[in-house]
Amino acid sequence: MNSPPQVAVIGGGYAGMAAAVSLAERGISVSVFESAKQLGGRARGVIHQETQLDNGQHLLLGCYRQTLSLIEQVGGNLEQDFLRLPLQLELQRQFSLKAPKLPAPLHLLIALLTAKGLSYTARLKAARFMLTLRRSKFTLADDISVAELLEQHGQHADLLQKLWEPLCIAALNTPIHKASAQILLNVLHDALNRTRADSDMLLPRLDFSALFPDRAANYILQRGGNLHTSCGVTSITPNEFGFALEVTNGSQLFSHVICAAPPVIAAKLLRPIAQLAQTVKIIEALRHQPIYTLYLKYPSHVRLPHAMQGLHQRFSQWLFDKGQIDGQQGLLVAVISAEGLHQNLGHDELAQRVIDELKEEFALYEQPAWYKVIAEKRATFACTPGLHRPGQQTPLPGLLLAGDYTQGAYPATLEGAVLSGVRCARLIA
Ligand SMILES: Cc1cc2nc3c(=O)[nH]c(=O)nc-3n(C[C@H](O)[C@H](O)[C@H](O)COP(=O)(O)OP(=O)(O)OC[C@H]3O[C@@H](n4cnc5c(N)ncnc54)[C@H](O)[C@@H]3O)c2cc1C
Repeated sequence: MNSPPQVAVIGGGYAGMAAAVSLAERGISVSVFESAKQLGGRARGVIHQETQLDNGQHLLLGCYRQTLSLIEQVGGNLEQDFLRLPLQLELQRQFSLKAPKLPAPLHLLIALLTAKGLSYTARLKAARFMLTLRRSKFTLADDISVAELLEQHGQHADLLQKLWEPLCIAALNTPIHKASAQILLNVLHDALNRTRADSDMLLPRLDFSALFPDRAANYILQRGGNLHTSCGVTSITPNEFGFALEVTNGSQLFSHVICAAPPVIAAKLLRPIAQLAQTVKIIEALRHQPIYTLYLKYPSHVRLPHAMQGLHQRFSQWLFDKGQIDGQQGLLVAVISAEGLHQNLGHDELAQRVIDELKEEFALYEQPAWYKVIAEKRATFACTPGLHRPGQQTPLPGLLLAGDYTQGAYPATLEGAVLSGVRCARLIA
């Protein structure tokens, strides 16, 4: 008789914790090893000046069904945990789109046709483009860049700058001339084409460690699993029993390993294993894109017109008003996704540019008491056309890969990470 699996999960980010919850749910023995003191990885809480921040403002979509369902499974309450906004895009003084309460995809078509800040012809072209995509089931024969796709469908100038470019950068964290059109279409399909709730935008009221990984940790411990933080894995050695893991406090044996570390670390851990040479090559070929997040603490009465809004042709791409999201009055967040000129500036210089933009756009003449710039240099993989991503299964049975960068329909997102983790658990079960 086969003995029951003993699974090690390397990495306590969203992918690793999703895998661990799905294993624990099935009564499978699981041990999570996380090198950092806290869980969450690239979506984690950060304390600065006694204020609860995140390593970056994240946004979830209603179509992130697996993530939302796991948050509920481990004890979350979606009504309380999120500020839920129906699909709306506001670019200060430039563009405004709001979906009416109609079934999908009618809500989107009406939103496009009634958008403010675009000519009638541009609105019509945007609506036609969506209908064409729907007819083609959001599938391309060959993947191309988003810029090429938009060009082919006459989505020029204003439409590009005010609608598609901000959307693409927010969704794929990759500039439109480098971004995969097919992956963007996958997101558009899931968010815009099924139910109206799928296109809702969800802004968490809790920090990202508390939202899922910390709750997941309790769930796993209650079901007899093990969790080790500040406990990095330094090597994986296949042997006749399965795998020996070298961890900070010694060596441990497991029948299965789910490596849910970020791609650079995964490549490092897998490199010594000869059977995985091709997998390592695929991981090493991935390129990365940054995300910069600036938190600015203004006096408590300071408020933006919307909880979330964009700026047109500015360093600050998206602004969030934490007062309206989670009650932290006067705390504003500016997000700058993907590569760009901002990377050439020092943190103080960048913060000053953002402060000036807030002054010019909102007549915000007061100075913030403090600001904090968090630059995640490898926030996501660069989501380029036809990108080869490693599968969850590797040539070595029993060793699986989870993470936002592994094979899937999504770009580097929480949902992509969670789906990969759940898939690994299913493969083992
Ligand atoms: C600033 C920023 C903003 C973002 N915004 C959004 C957004 O709005 N919406 C969205 O959906 N996605 C967003 N993302 C992407 C999202 O955060 C990631 O796709 C997701 O968190 C990746 O999860 P993961 O588990 O695959 O990897 P990670 O979060 O990187 O988890 C890997 C874990 O492995 C641990 N680890 C590393 N080495 C070892 C080792 N040797 N032993 C043990 N553990 C190890 C790490 O500490 C980490 O906890 C954003 C990312 C960033 C950085």
